[in-house]
Amino acid sequence: MTRLSVEGAVCRHGLLTAVRGVSFALEAGEVLCVIGANGAGKTTLMRALAGAHPLAAGRIVLDGEDVTGLGTHARLRRGIAMSPEGRRLFPDMTVRENLMIAAENGRAGDWTLDRVLAAFDQLEPLLDRPAEKLSGGQRQAAAIGRALLANPDVLLLDEVSLGLSPAAVEGVYRALGEIKETRAMTMIVVEQDLTCALNFADRILCVTEGAVALEGRPDDFTRAEISNAYFGIHEKESADA
Ligand code: ATP
Repeated sequence: MTRLSVEGAVCRHGLLTAVRGVSFALEAGEVLCVIGANGAGKTTLMRALAGAHPLAAGRIVLDGEDVTGLGTHARLRRGIAMSPEGRRLFPDMTVRENLMIAAENGRAGDWTLDRVLAAFDQLEPLLDRPAEKLSGGQRQAAAIGRALLANPDVLLLDEVSLGLSPAAVEGVYRALGEIKETRAMTMIVVEQDLTCALNFADRILCVTEGAVALEGRPDDFTRAEISNAYFGIHEKESADA
């Protein structure tokens, strides 16, 4: 069953077109990793999916229903939740308070505080700590936990490994891998680390200058094809090199 389809999405920042006619569709439980160089349009696309940035053209359809015109709160209620780039927790509030805000504003479901603490076991001793006192990895775990507490059908994770230590990256992906195995949640993950993206994704979508440069299963492409798409190198240029 198609859970989410994005049809010809175009997003602008003033005169700059950051997302140029992006289309893809995801089945329930599929994991898509979005890759691409700095400034390719990944964050703008994620914000558009979450309802935080308007589409200048195109449609976003969730479970057969056009949600293009809905803002972030309405999309959260329909089942799209995002953990944004920079993790954006409320810095003065404790981890528990940050998590409970999401639980209170999201949908009811299997993801309770206890389940989040079981998935990200480093969070339990930190519950009463202000978010500003967390390490990067702890902040990432709390931000993903917060998104999970909204009980989404579609979980959007922007820049999962950015700024984290290798051990923290491994911890976050271990937890995400367990969620992936349940096939209960569709995930779209922006990941700058190509190896992490290729290991985790069912499908990858590479964005170059706002447009889809390559899309498919990681095994469909050679590493060189993916790197070329990532850096916006066209076939002729790579043959000339
Ligand atoms: P990064 O990996 O650096 O975060 P990205 O792939 O997520 O990059 P976006 O942040 O979506 O890319 O940016 C896409 C384009 O839109 C870039 O050219 C960027 O400079 C521009 N842009 C992003 N946000 C704004 C904004 N608020 N105002 C104006 N231009 C913006």
